[in-house]
Amino acid sequence: MKIDRSKSKRLAKATTAIHAGALDHSVYGEVSVPIFQTSTFAFPSAAEGAARFSGEKPGYIYSRLDNPTVNALEESVATLEGGFGAVATATGMAAVSTVYLSFLSAGDHVVAANCIYGASRVILESELIRYGVETTFVDGSQLSQIEKAMRPQTRMVFVETPMNPSLKLTDLAGAAAAAQKQGALLVVDNTFASPYLQRPIEFGADIVIHSLTKLINGHADVIGGMVIARVRERYDRVKRMANIFGNTMDPHQAWLILRGLRTLALRVEKGQENAMKLARFLETHPKTTWVSYPGLSSHPQHELAKRQMDGFGCMISFGVQNGLEGGITVMNNVRLIGLAVSLGGVESLIEHPASMTHACIPPEKRREAEIYDELVRLSVGCEDFDDLRNDLDQALNRIGQDKSALEAQIEASQEPGC
Ligand SMILES: *Cc1c(COP(=O)(O)O)cnc(C)c1O
Repeated sequence: MKIDRSKSKRLAKATTAIHAGALDHSVYGEVSVPIFQTSTFAFPSAAEGAARFSGEKPGYIYSRLDNPTVNALEESVATLEGGFGAVATATGMAAVSTVYLSFLSAGDHVVAANCIYGASRVILESELIRYGVETTFVDGSQLSQIEKAMRPQTRMVFVETPMNPSLKLTDLAGAAAAAQKQGALLVVDNTFASPYLQRPIEFGADIVIHSLTKLINGHADVIGGMVIARVRERYDRVKRMANIFGNTMDPHQAWLILRGLRTLALRVEKGQENAMKLARFLETHPKTTWVSYPGLSSHPQHELAKRQMDGFGCMISFGVQNGLEGGITVMNNVRLIGLAVSLGGVESLIEHPASMTHACIPPEKRREAEIYDELVRLSVGCEDFDDLRNDLDQALNRIGQDKSALEAQIEASQEPGC
């Protein structure tokens, strides 16, 4: 159900994140959106029930279809992204799969960036192929590759920017133009930037996806997803598919995420301030070999980042000396920074794709996807900068020490069948 959004249209992002989606029809004047923990809603009469089902009258029916708490979260994110409407989903992957199911049919072709989130890629590569949908994977940072891969049957261009884990960017306006020329939809997974830093719809995207699990919730305690559509027709399609496939969100989950969203501006500002300082620190550290952060002038797409983002984000990737061994050493020696996948929380997390998330992929294939053995990915949180720098510094300085213990571990991590 749509809530009147005219009041929040003129407000700045930080204000919108705090106020958008607040219910207009509060019962007790409550300031926070209540949790409507109910599976179903009673009708005052049979006629009213019929009118709600037919869409003649607004009103709630059943929480898989609509729920006031979930609607409040949807309105908040739709307003921030500048879309017509949003559909909250159980997980980020439920958002991705709902978008695929909504807009792809047998015989269709997809152009996708090769660095998109692992599961988003696996669905295209291994599952949708069974339904007759074919995908071409390209380097999303090269607009010419996207353009060249387009076919008459291309119905969707799927990108993620900044990309994981290279932190390279896709030119959103360019990708939108390429998609539009072919009558295809541009779908952007905006998880890494959040609407606080980047609103793909402003650059021509048709659909925006979020894993709310990351920056929008921001506290590493809930899983959730969202699909935002630029126009009504696409919103209606996604809404229908989420409802019938049952990919929708629970009210308690929505309430927790709404609570996280209210501080999005504060968290992103602090995280990216820390990230900028850490990127500069890492660039001069003797144990690093390179640093990729869109805010550094050494980033090959720094100018594009300034054009399409309002800030450079909280994610950094960097190379360490001694390759795989160096990466493992850093993982085993951080004390404050958490050794975990996921990102976008108030707590900083570090990950080493070659020995962890991507260890099962053969080394040659990893290099093709720019997942180098020495690459370390850091999600920068809101801690004190000096504490983060000191922790990274001491962990990096361990590289090259206690070699024998490491050799055994490297061997174990390279064993097939993991
Ligand atoms: C985490 C993530 C997803 C998947 O979201 P879940 O909430 O884990 O289902 C999709 N895209 C990106 C970019 C992610 O980081």
